[in-house]
Amino acid sequence: MDENAPHDAAEAPKSASSADAAGAHVARTAARLGEYGFFFDFDGTLSPIQQDPESVQPVPGGVAALAALAANARVTAIVSARPVAFLAGRFGGVPGLRLNGLYGLEYSPDGGATVTTVPEAEPYAPVIARVVAEAREAFPGALIEDKRLSCALHFRTDPALEPGIESWAALHAEAYGLRLQHGRMVVELKPPLDTDKGAVVLREAAGLAGAWYFGDDLGDLPAFAALDKLAAEQPGFHAVRVAVGTAEGRGAALAEHADVLLDGPESVPTLLDSFHCG
Ligand SMILES: [Mg+2]
Repeated sequence: MDENAPHDAAEAPKSASSADAAGAHVARTAARLGEYGFFFDFDGTLSPIQQDPESVQPVPGGVAALAALAANARVTAIVSARPVAFLAGRFGGVPGLRLNGLYGLEYSPDGGATVTTVPEAEPYAPVIARVVAEAREAFPGALIEDKRLSCALHFRTDPALEPGIESWAALHAEAYGLRLQHGRMVVELKPPLDTDKGAVVLREAAGLAGAWYFGDDLGDLPAFAALDKLAAEQPGFHAVRVAVGTAEGRGAALAEHADVLLDGPESVPTLLDSFHCG
């Protein structure tokens, strides 16, 4: 990402205080809300990070704020490492909200009723199943999450496992021809396809006057880069990169590239509600 790239004149400087920066972007966006797209990571962005990843729920007010946005903006989408089925359990009732799971390997335009898998990913399902089984054998105390097309090895509950898990994952990614994806206290093995959160944003952003992306982690950097690309290619495109609660180490890199900083997931609904005021 080029920090020296020219920014749109109306864009607040990155040195501005978060509240001022957000206010300027909100005002510009609210005037043409129906031409904008909004993209959200889930874990750490719309929900607090928890020890048990299965129990995670959106922050209070989050679902209502997304519903209001989905009713008024051109595109409102979740872009997550989670499977679509998980996202549908949290957001399935929100009309118009698009669900992108497994970094875009899965997609649902209708709250999870129909799920499309990227065809190139499907052949990796048996390989991932084998990796899941081997990981559970190698780390019986760790949470090994089977996402069918991705295997996540979590070390949040036991950070001492990190070096062992990292080297195991690197070895097995190479042995099985898989790709590594690092997150907050987690490493994943996934198919070696060029689907990341940036590709999802580019796919969904056709015809938009501007777009916001909310993220908290390294896996969200490609989405920030996608907004940079759209802004560079389309004169007047309004790109807003929001870093949420980036206190944990890996999120710091995201904050460096953000236009707006929010304290944590609880601040997201408040910001979204401001689009509909005044
Ligand atoms: Mg996240």
